[in-house]
Amino acid sequence: MAVRPADLRDDIGQILLSEEQIAAKVAELGARISADYAGRPVTLVSVLKGSLPFMADLMRAIDLPLRIDLMEVSSYGGNSTESSGLVRILKDLSASIEREDVLIVEDIIDTGLTLNYLVRYLRGKNPASLRICTLLDKPARRLVEIPVDYIGFEIPDQFVVGYGLDYGELYRNLRFVGVLKPEVYGAGGPEADAE
Ligand code: 5GP
Repeated sequence: MAVRPADLRDDIGQILLSEEQIAAKVAELGARISADYAGRPVTLVSVLKGSLPFMADLMRAIDLPLRIDLMEVSSYGGNSTESSGLVRILKDLSASIEREDVLIVEDIIDTGLTLNYLVRYLRGKNPASLRICTLLDKPARRLVEIPVDYIGFEIPDQFVVGYGLDYGELYRNLRFVGVLKPEVYGAGGPEADAE
């Protein structure tokens, strides 16, 4: 696919969440998290690459002593439209989270399979507590029930890009979350190229 930076915005059919809406929600989540942890230190664990902008903004909206760590995972097996729940760790934690209060920072929960794996993996590292914060939640496609402590926005069953989320590795740098025009998708459909 040719990279056409100036045209990326033209590929968006509908803006679902504006930059202002996202900023207001991030501030609200940061305030709630700061109040809930009441001064206790927290370790934010974010999952690359899609959560990068959310993590960067959320950590600055939290008024607590905090550490951050980054993981990168990829799904394998399954087919192009459904993740299999088998997850490969491409980048592991760089420090122990034993006895730490850990908050997972996710961009989007779709089927929940990736997060389900991650929660079990991180629980095995004996954190003092483990909570989940996601910017976007697509409950319509959930295959495993996971209690999510902080949810930014519930969105309909549409494939979205922007604010970290990609299609074919592009669109992550858009400041808003939007839906691509149908003609932008290749033959495989929107989820063929998803992370
Ligand atoms: P799950 O295991 O919950 O089905 O998959 C979550 C991952 O799938 C997300 O971290 C994200 O990488 C990808 N994903 C799910 N829905 C979307 C979407 O609407 N847009 C984009 N760009 N990626 C998505």
